[in-house]
Amino acid sequence: MTPRNLFTMFLCLIFFPLFKGFPQTMQPEEKFVVQTEQFADLAILRYRIEGFEQLSLKQKELVYYLYETALCGRDIIFDQNYKYNLVIRRTLEAIIQNHSEDKTSEEYLKLLVYAKRVWFSNGIHHHYSSLKFTPEITKEYLVALINEVPEGKLPLAREQSKSDFIKFIIPLIFDTTIAVTKTNQADGVDLIASSANNFYENITQKEVEEYYSSKTDKTNPRAISVGLNSKLEKVNGEIVENTWKVGGMYSAAIEKIVYWLDKAVTVAETEHQKIAFQKLIEFYKTGDLKTFDDYCIEWIKDTQSSVDAINGFIETYSDPLGFKANFESIVSFKDVVATKRIEAISKEAQWFEDNSPISAQHKKKNVKGISAKVITVVVESGDSSPSTPIGVNLPNATWIRKEYGSKSVNLGNIVHAYNLASSDEVLREFCYTTEEIELTKKYGNLSDDLHTDMHEVIGHASGQINPGVGTPRETLKNYSSTIEEARADLVALYYILDNKLVTMGVMPTIDAGKAEYSKYIRSGLMTQLQRIKPGENIEEAHMRNRQLIAAWAFEKGKSENIIERKNKEGKTFFVINNYEKLKTIFGEMLHDIQRITSEGDFDAARKLVETYGVKVDVELHKEVLKRFEKLHIAPYKGFINPVLVPSFENGKFIDVKVEYPDDFTKQMLFYAKQYSFLPSIN
Ligand code: ZN
Repeated sequence: MTPRNLFTMFLCLIFFPLFKGFPQTMQPEEKFVVQTEQFADLAILRYRIEGFEQLSLKQKELVYYLYETALCGRDIIFDQNYKYNLVIRRTLEAIIQNHSEDKTSEEYLKLLVYAKRVWFSNGIHHHYSSLKFTPEITKEYLVALINEVPEGKLPLAREQSKSDFIKFIIPLIFDTTIAVTKTNQADGVDLIASSANNFYENITQKEVEEYYSSKTDKTNPRAISVGLNSKLEKVNGEIVENTWKVGGMYSAAIEKIVYWLDKAVTVAETEHQKIAFQKLIEFYKTGDLKTFDDYCIEWIKDTQSSVDAINGFIETYSDPLGFKANFESIVSFKDVVATKRIEAISKEAQWFEDNSPISAQHKKKNVKGISAKVITVVVESGDSSPSTPIGVNLPNATWIRKEYGSKSVNLGNIVHAYNLASSDEVLREFCYTTEEIELTKKYGNLSDDLHTDMHEVIGHASGQINPGVGTPRETLKNYSSTIEEARADLVALYYILDNKLVTMGVMPTIDAGKAEYSKYIRSGLMTQLQRIKPGENIEEAHMRNRQLIAAWAFEKGKSENIIERKNKEGKTFFVINNYEKLKTIFGEMLHDIQRITSEGDFDAARKLVETYGVKVDVELHKEVLKRFEKLHIAPYKGFINPVLVPSFENGKFIDVKVEYPDDFTKQMLFYAKQYSFLPSIN
């Protein structure tokens, strides 16, 4: 068993360096421009929807309705991330749309960069580090820009004067002591009071924990995921739960989602899919979490449809206590050819479990219902856009996974776009030998895919909790995400050097596994540090997991020099001297991490994560940043979505065309115009 909040894998960690080289002109298919721009620490990419034309008309119609359901929920995540995100976003949008002079001035361009960062992060906190960022312009300049905007175009509260509005909004944007971090995971403070997200208000961590503990039915093995779809606050001493549903909080956006889901019902591909949509509609109307579980079960059962959608309140990473879920949607259809590889792994799930180095008592006797496929993404929204996962495994409810299994997907066209956008420069900078570079170039794409497949399909699905021990979220608390990701990664790492994959026909040679090992160690000990600012620790669960594994393996292999730290011309390198032994070490670590999970050993989890996963080697960090500086590579990437343009005749769906816009700002302004349904402050 595994906790419910850990299953979407934001594998943005895998290093996808900057694309350079294609001319910025447009655009026969083979010349499709992948990267359109770069600013701050971000790059904007595009992806294609290969195979869209092969869908039937009915499938296209379904895709189109689901596309609308996805985008209609976009406002929600801004508000979830911070109470004042929507009012800040709309102020910036009003400025950009009304500003007519001086569009090339240095200050105005800086304002634009800030706006683009806000769109990218769905708010004023960095999408990855969760820390607040501020614009590199003066307050006076922003005030002047706001003053340019006609009053009617600004998101003023009722009877609020423009000058009062300015007094209200300027500190929210500039004051670095207000709303410092979206999600605080730090040890030893009130995680609720110190997190800026809009899941809780006026309430302490202790009160939240007591409230949900009293709501959780510990005797019911099929208990609902309490608190998943609501804001919890204390009003006049009373604890009030505001549910996100039609007629409740976020109603205006949810009504639109329901409107399009109603249409999707009429063109569903299978009976299970139809029931799933109906259950989802019922959930959005009632807010009932039992109905949400029913929906998830139908969604799992629907393995036959090509078109599919993730839609709902899904991942709980933004809540330090893991109760509240962000809105998210991914609309896709199946990539039949690529799915064969992942299916081959899924079919052998029991073999992998039986041969795993974990204790016999922690193994599942029956690894159940892992359904895996490669999908072609059509649109993403909320939590998965513009920054996107490349693999997803859902649903998150532990008991549903146990009884019904889960669906695991690899976002094929997204991964393809990343690969097109990558360059060799990072390899040349951080690989010690040309052999290592060649190995990565030759097998890097495949070994990435295999790692992702195994992490999702057999990693998260493996292992079981000892009887009577709570879920990892309950027992390992704020360390549960990191430990769970480490567990899934270690399963993938252990087997990627196994001949089994070669005999199964999914990997040509064990060398592909070696490529993955050196990439993982390079990333975990060095290259991922590019994402951390000087003086910061590692906060994000996947990054913690990656350093935890790499640093722990380095130390465990030290006496035998399994991973060697070398220095060449003042530069640090990590070189693997013995791949087989490293595999054994990964196996031992997996054994320990599984024990911690199965027994709910909080102290051991905390010790491991705090020792290896959190603190940054200050000197090495400096060196890594310096080496990256000259490469001019953005550490984070996100995507412009394709646009679907439908045609209807007398209300009847005729066709839909795909367009590929290439201007991030225009897309964000288009979304703001088309999909702004919520009040500026909710
Ligand atoms: Zn994962």
